[in-house]
Amino acid sequence: MTADHRTDSETPELGRTVQEFGDDPTEVRESTHYKHEYVQTFVDKWDELIDWRARYESEGKFFVQQLRDRGVKSVLDVATGTGFHSVRLLEEGFETVVSADGSAEMLAKAFDNGMKFGGHILRVVQADWRWLNRDVHGEYDAIICLGNSFTHLFSEKDRRKALAEFYAMLKHDGVLILDQRNYDSILDNGFSSKHQYYYCGDGVVAEPEHVDDGLARFRYEFSDGSEYHLNMFPLRKDYTRRLMHEVGFQKIETFGDFQSTYSDDEPDFFVHIAEKA
Ligand code: SAM
Repeated sequence: MTADHRTDSETPELGRTVQEFGDDPTEVRESTHYKHEYVQTFVDKWDELIDWRARYESEGKFFVQQLRDRGVKSVLDVATGTGFHSVRLLEEGFETVVSADGSAEMLAKAFDNGMKFGGHILRVVQADWRWLNRDVHGEYDAIICLGNSFTHLFSEKDRRKALAEFYAMLKHDGVLILDQRNYDSILDNGFSSKHQYYYCGDGVVAEPEHVDDGLARFRYEFSDGSEYHLNMFPLRKDYTRRLMHEVGFQKIETFGDFQSTYSDDEPDFFVHIAEKA
């Protein structure tokens, strides 16, 4: 890490266990704050929230097939988290999988999970999307940014910068796969989650505590009574698509809960598949 881009507040100590949101948590709308939200104890709980087996079943071969259909061999997972997709792609035999994330806690957990599920040695790199090209090298056939991760960026400048970094790290005909919660439906109609896809751990409550045009603050409550929060930016679907077009992606297809046809209110999640050529 260099001091030029990152301040002390961006590099919290490893092993931190308490989330800090200050006096008014709804005022916390900052792209770097994710590092303070994924504290060690929350990371340890993440796989309870994101039940791997249930997720494996609900996603099926969707991402694997999208990548295979495009002849993808090398993948950069920019939001590795605890490693679900990196491990899945290694299991499926993709030649190169590099696992990046801005959170050291998440990467440590991902590395352990790689060993635990199949003895895979993950190639982990700590990198913030906004300076991805500085910290990760090479060009990839595909970049994946999954699990409602892009929502952590709070300014349009940061979103454009991150997408431009993704674009630059893809080969000339590369593909970006990025998903997001259906915030349009939450903003326009209120919240209702079938908990079918990503947040599928039993006995875990994940629900919004505060929603306005600039913030979706979710509360996660676990069976042992522990509680954590994430502050996220409520991305509207067409806005995300527009940004992707504007940084240069030529063709963008958006799926709703893995289906190509859907009514906009229905899906919990959207998956955007953005092609460079
Ligand atoms: N993809 C994983 C999954 O589906 O389980 C993790 C999803 S988790 C909601 C979001 C991840 O994005 C976290 O691991 C977090 O550290 C990472 N993240 C958020 N903002 C980031 C940024 N600006 N640069 C790099 N990683 C970031």
